[in-house]
Amino acid sequence: MVSKCKYIKLQNRSYQINIKKDKRAKRIILKVSNIDGNISITLPKYESEKEGLKFLLKNQEWVLKQLNSFPKKVPFKNLSEIPYMGKMHKIIHLSKSGNLIYIYKNQIVFFGKKENLSKNIKSWLYGKAKNEIIKLANSNVSYLGKKYNKIYIKDLKSSWGICGPSGNISFSWRLILAPKHVMEYIVVHELCHLVEFNHGKEFWQLVTAIFPQRDLSQNWLKINGVKLHMIG
Ligand SMILES: [Zn+2]
Repeated sequence: MVSKCKYIKLQNRSYQINIKKDKRAKRIILKVSNIDGNISITLPKYESEKEGLKFLLKNQEWVLKQLNSFPKKVPFKNLSEIPYMGKMHKIIHLSKSGNLIYIYKNQIVFFGKKENLSKNIKSWLYGKAKNEIIKLANSNVSYLGKKYNKIYIKDLKSSWGICGPSGNISFSWRLILAPKHVMEYIVVHELCHLVEFNHGKEFWQLVTAIFPQRDLSQNWLKINGVKLHMIG
C-alpha cells in the first residue's frame, strides 16, 4: 500500500488528506478517523488520485459534518475537567511552590510552577497508567500460560495497545482516563495476542473467555474514544 499526503481547502480551511492505493478496495473509500480526525481516501487499483479528490469534494459536506461533531480539546491547565479512571476530575493548581500531584475527592491537585503543570500532569498520568496496566496484566496473564516481556506506555495515535512478536506490549497512556473495565479489556485484548497474533475466531473466543463483558468496553470506546484523544 502506497500512501501520500495532499492538502485541500474546504470552506477556507486547509486540511491534510492521506491518500493511499489498496488493490483490495472495490471503490473509493472516504474516511474521517474517529480517533484523530484525519481524513483519508483509499483508492482501488483503477482509480486515480484526481478521482479520489473529486469524490472528496463531492462529499465535503459530510466530511465537514464529521469534523464539526468532534469534541473540543481540553488542555491540562488550572480548572480543566478531565476524566481519570472514568470519573471527571478538576485540575486544581494549588500552589506555585513544591512539586507534587495527588488526587483529593474529585480533584487532581497540583503543586508546582504553572509552566510545568501540563508536562507534569501528563507524566504523572503515564505513571498511573503504567501501574494500573501492569496490575491488570499480571492478574490476567495467568489464564494464558504465556508471559509478556515488557510493558510500555506510549502516546499511541491510532490504537489503544500494540502487542509485538517478541512479547513487548505498548499501551496508550490515555487508558488511565477511561473506566477500569475499558483498560482491562484492552489489556486482555493485547495479552491474547501473545497466543493468537490475529483477530480471527479463536482470538475473539479467547478474549471473551477471559473477559466476557468485552462488548460493553468496546462500545464505550466506540462512543468515547475520540474524547480521550482530545485531552491534554
Ligand atoms: Zn488486536
